[in-house]
Amino acid sequence: MYLAQVIARQGKTFIVENEQGKQLNCHVRTNALDAVCGDRVQCAANTADKHVIEKILERKNQITRIDNFKREKTLAANIDHIIIVVAATPTFTTTLIDKYLACAQLNHCKATIVINKAELINSNDVEVNALENIYQELVENIIVTSAKLGYGIQTLRNVIANENTILVGQSGVGKSSLINRLLNNNLIKVGELSENIQQGKHTTTNAYAHTINNSGKIIDSPGVRTFTPIFKNAHEVMQGYKEFLEYVQYCKFADCQHVKEPNCAIKSEVENGNIKQSRYNSYLENIQEVNQNQ
Ligand code: GDP
Ligand code: ZN
Repeated sequence: MYLAQVIARQGKTFIVENEQGKQLNCHVRTNALDAVCGDRVQCAANTADKHVIEKILERKNQITRIDNFKREKTLAANIDHIIIVVAATPTFTTTLIDKYLACAQLNHCKATIVINKAELINSNDVEVNALENIYQELVENIIVTSAKLGYGIQTLRNVIANENTILVGQSGVGKSSLINRLLNNNLIKVGELSENIQQGKHTTTNAYAHTINNSGKIIDSPGVRTFTPIFKNAHEVMQGYKEFLEYVQYCKFADCQHVKEPNCAIKSEVENGNIKQSRYNSYLENIQEVNQNQ
């Protein structure tokens, strides 16, 4: 019996990595069929070349998406760090960044923002400065990269050391290019070619945890790359904006949603400048969206 982490799944066969870093092929018991990349699992070696996943250990968190049939599908488990990738140009929307940040907050993981394609802008770009101003205190790191020229990559590699991470962000911002740089090879095809991976011989690979620096893992799949968090209810939105939390106790109403209520501490702090206007605006968008859907 040994403990391992799920690295990849192909149909009913899994690749796991044991605590010595050795990768092994495993079958799976029916009760562990839901194992996903990042899962910690208990395995047994039935014979020398026939290993089996006996059980999935409790997850610290899981990243899920809603499929076309409104079912929740788990994409990856036990994520320590969400790397939010934006392109320095053309313009990025902070609304999406805020959704990913809320996802990190709700799942107790760290968040880092990567501003890629930086070679296309100059160092005192107004928008990038504005973004740094909004997020400096809300994330672990803001890293400026160019996957094209290769800068910022070592900094990003250091961030991923010893952690399970996912790279998320809009299509086209350079996630595959960054992963290729991190891996120093061309394992993942960039741009249009990534379509071929999804349709071609790799179709059965749901996700793969790439090893960085011998220890860190990037869990990547078409699903993870296009994943956009969805708030289930207003409570999740309210918990997802971490800088709001220290002030909510001063709202007049205990159930204040910080929208139209009088004597709302959040609105006062926006006026005082302690909460950024753009964060409050995206909060309003998200809270209105969930309230409409309920
Ligand atoms: P993904 O959809 O987020 O995985 O993005 P890709 O890695 O497929 O990149 C989308 C496009 O942006 C491709 O044409 C890449 O060559 C290009 N790209 C990626 N990183 C950079 C960069 O740092 N600078 C520039 N100029 N282009 C980049
Ligand atoms: Zn309030």
